[in-house]
Amino acid sequence: MATMSLTLDNTFTQFENFGHSLRAPSYGFHPTRVEEIFDVFNLAKNLGLTVTARGAGRSYNDASLNGGGIVLDMSAMDKILEWESASGLVRCEPGVTLKQLWQCVEPDGWWPPVVSGTMQTTLGGCLAANIHGKNNFQKGTIGEHVLEFTAMLPTGELIICTPKTNTDLFYAMISGWGMLGVFTSITLQMKRIHSGLIAVDAWPVPNLSRHLSDLLDNAPRYDYIVGWLDTTTGGQNLGRGQIHAARNLKEGEDPDPQTTMQLAYQQLPDRLFGLMPKSLLHYFMSPFMNNLGVRGINTAKYITSLRKHTFRQSHAEFHFLLDYVPGWELSYGRGGLIQYQSFLPKETAEDAWRGMIQLSHQRGLPSYLGVTKRHRPDKFLLTHTVDGFSLAMDFKVTNNKRAQLSELLQDFDHMVLQAGGRFYFAKNSETSAEAARAFLGEETIVKFNKLKQRCDPNNLLESDLFRRVFGQSI
Ligand SMILES: Cc1cc2nc3c(=O)[nH]c(=O)nc-3n(C[C@H](O)[C@H](O)[C@H](O)COP(=O)(O)OP(=O)(O)OC[C@H]3O[C@@H](n4cnc5c(N)ncnc54)[C@H](O)[C@@H]3O)c2cc1C
Repeated sequence: MATMSLTLDNTFTQFENFGHSLRAPSYGFHPTRVEEIFDVFNLAKNLGLTVTARGAGRSYNDASLNGGGIVLDMSAMDKILEWESASGLVRCEPGVTLKQLWQCVEPDGWWPPVVSGTMQTTLGGCLAANIHGKNNFQKGTIGEHVLEFTAMLPTGELIICTPKTNTDLFYAMISGWGMLGVFTSITLQMKRIHSGLIAVDAWPVPNLSRHLSDLLDNAPRYDYIVGWLDTTTGGQNLGRGQIHAARNLKEGEDPDPQTTMQLAYQQLPDRLFGLMPKSLLHYFMSPFMNNLGVRGINTAKYITSLRKHTFRQSHAEFHFLLDYVPGWELSYGRGGLIQYQSFLPKETAEDAWRGMIQLSHQRGLPSYLGVTKRHRPDKFLLTHTVDGFSLAMDFKVTNNKRAQLSELLQDFDHMVLQAGGRFYFAKNSETSAEAARAFLGEETIVKFNKLKQRCDPNNLLESDLFRRVFGQSI
């Protein structure tokens, strides 16, 4: 393969995680062609540096950070290469975002089978994490809808993987956090829809027990289910919240699908009440982002959600609620936020989360937002899912409480492991190599190491996440 001569001049940049709680200076490169990825591998090898691919940088932790090394920013490889509206097959470069994807396919009556809570993520990042959506219990992770991908290995080999070709790499690179190779193209199957609207049922749940049993019992009747959990309340109300369960409309249910599937119908408004730009909203949220303020807001939110109701909303509104307030994460202030997400079997979830929420209250470090989902297991090598539930909790980071928060989250890790749970490497930023080893198990680590040596014999692909959780295993 022909190589260009690359240098490191003027490329040193400060990269951050999504939660603005971590910073790592690195050399940034922005390939626009596959050959340039190989050039960067060569450069790294010659200079003794490591390389981390980065999509949109939407991981809450250090997954796409590489302090002192090279960051390969894939966002310029953002072309939709082929779209077949008859079959719903799409082939994309890895920097294509979910926003580009749904906006391409929806007007033709299709929707991505699995999406994250933000549409800003790239397909490369989504495959590397093997993201789940609010339909994980039904449709599995995004990897289950990938028909083929191509990837550049640090050896310079360009490989093609499908569920039947290079099977071991197919199941390891999807969920592999970019540590085996860099995705260069991705072919996905979209899902048919018959309307741009989705029917949502919303109802309150008074405590954790009802919260989880409602997720479990209702999931089979819906396409999507998600819960908001008030993590600031204890006692008998611990775990109270609200469930949103949604189903796609059947053919004929929407009198005017041609209109509702148009992009204009799906746009999230950029102004509040038609007046204030929503990009300014985080400044108004900031003064309430403290234990007392959030408790008050959560109580008001719970009280106003007590009525069971049904409504229709656009796909974009339902799926990308977190994009509704652009820059909401800035409301957490200078220290940023950490999201901690644990995945627990349905048999142990209630006791473990009760214990974790109580512990966070005892230590004066309540989470400000809790989100629950229903999951099913999958067969990807570094899978995070279980037959059970997940709870994602957002914590404010402040200088004087950073160490206590870190200790709390490591205590959570022990509680999750004891309950037979799993972690998701897109979120938690405190999980140690020891905890990761316990969660993944020896057999998985041995398999991963073998693939790592085959694909990346010089260990060029490393991230801060990799050094933190695999540092002692490779
Ligand atoms: C508001 C918000 C909501 C979210 N909701 C969900 C959710 O509902 N479900 C869920 O599962 N996740 C969710 N996430 C997490 C997010 O989907 C993942 O962190 C995802 O990996 C981010 O994609 P990205 O393009 O920003 O990748 P980055 O964060 O930039 O990178 C993530 C990983 O992908 C690797 N990578 C990136 N591009 C490539 C490539 N071309 N080849 C190989 N490896 C690559 C990186 O090295 C890194 O390990 C959410 C995140 C945010 C901020």
